[in-house]
Amino acid sequence: MEYVPNILFAIALIVGVGYFTRNVKKLSRNIKLGKDVDVSDNKPQRWQNMVRIALGQTKMVVRPVAGIMHIFVYVGFIIINIEVLEIILDGLFGTHRLFSSLGSIYNFLIGSFEILAFLVIVAVVVFWIRRNVIRLQRFIKPEMKGWPKKDGNMILYIEFVLMTLFLTMNAADSQLQQMGAEHYVRAGSFPISQFLTPLLSGMSESGLMMVERTAWWLHILGILAFLNYLYYSKHLHILLAFPNTYFGKVKPKGQLDNLQSVTNEVKLMMDPNADPFAAPATTDAAAVPEKFGASDVMDLNWVQLLNAYTCTECGRCTSECPANQTGKKLSPRKIMMDTRDRLEEVGKNMDANKGEFKPDGKQLLDDYISREELWACTTCNACVQACPVSIDPLSIIVEMRRYLVMEQSAAPMELNNMMSNIENNGAPWPYNQMDRLNWVNE
Ligand code: SF4
Ligand code: SF4
Repeated sequence: MEYVPNILFAIALIVGVGYFTRNVKKLSRNIKLGKDVDVSDNKPQRWQNMVRIALGQTKMVVRPVAGIMHIFVYVGFIIINIEVLEIILDGLFGTHRLFSSLGSIYNFLIGSFEILAFLVIVAVVVFWIRRNVIRLQRFIKPEMKGWPKKDGNMILYIEFVLMTLFLTMNAADSQLQQMGAEHYVRAGSFPISQFLTPLLSGMSESGLMMVERTAWWLHILGILAFLNYLYYSKHLHILLAFPNTYFGKVKPKGQLDNLQSVTNEVKLMMDPNADPFAAPATTDAAAVPEKFGASDVMDLNWVQLLNAYTCTECGRCTSECPANQTGKKLSPRKIMMDTRDRLEEVGKNMDANKGEFKPDGKQLLDDYISREELWACTTCNACVQACPVSIDPLSIIVEMRRYLVMEQSAAPMELNNMMSNIENNGAPWPYNQMDRLNWVNE
């Protein structure tokens, strides 16, 4: 009987971590559905971006209130992991406050965890008020109805409960230490939870133990449950922000990628020594030519799919988007949310069909993202600049437009006219090249 709690704890840990590993595998498989892209360039710049943007949170503080509050939650998340490690070891080996032998360092750590836990609670309350009472514009856009709204609030509730459990556990523990209860070593400093101890005064030793153990178990089970909630939530960014900022675009923002196949064709046309009637280099006559642009998630590259899973749904991109500000249907955040939703749908299709994707008659274009949204984009890059985790919604818009233009000739009439004019007259205007200088005589 003595080892029952340890065994139960080990089972909970194995189930929690096992399910999380399963979800990570799914996530990785879905991201790998994207096309390959070379991101091996500029390694120093990439590391620098990751340290500056993900670790240093530099883009978050552009909006100071949200930025500073976010830093509390983020630092709290990182630092409190040390405490989680102690809880896991205690749970497995039946010890209590295993790291207490660190003496004053331990006291300092527990004291700082408590202060961070309190700051996290303050930040979470401020975030909740901004979302639900002040109702900031970017949190009430059409794409934030239903699950995204619930998810945003759910994360705040979970963090609030986890931090409260941690402080309650410490409050009961410090009382037990003062009573000299067996097993409760005198260790730690409790600058915040000391204010909760009056609520526990008058309780018996066994009652305090009940409170301490309940808070301890709920805290760690809550953490394991939260770990598994990540996959279904925008909160996945706490893990993916790091690779995403590393693999983010390092070329100048305005530089669009050319299609290699088109570049080759143009080079051939410009080469005076090329034989325009020469047979194509490939000998495989049945080879299907590569599709231009993207109509579904599998046509995007894996960094774009990683972007979709990393999106925090913060809406900073949408709030900066000139198209959205002027009442157009386009929201760059929705582009990312739609890409993730479609990718999830494709993943579930594969799960149901033994790892094979069975065509479902749907695609990202039209079923998720409309042409009206795509053509509303001014390609200004404001969304890319605003994103605190280096996501590039514009690259997806451009790929999907590329598909419309090059595969379907389905550009808006004004653009088609312009492109025909460039082709025929070498200029966007519908005038013959010979008439270009007529204005001189007018
Ligand atoms: S690039 Fe397009 S989507 Fe992004 S902010 Fe500009 S108009 Fe909006
Ligand atoms: S793309 Fe970036 S800025 Fe836009 S909602 Fe997602 S995380 Fe926020």
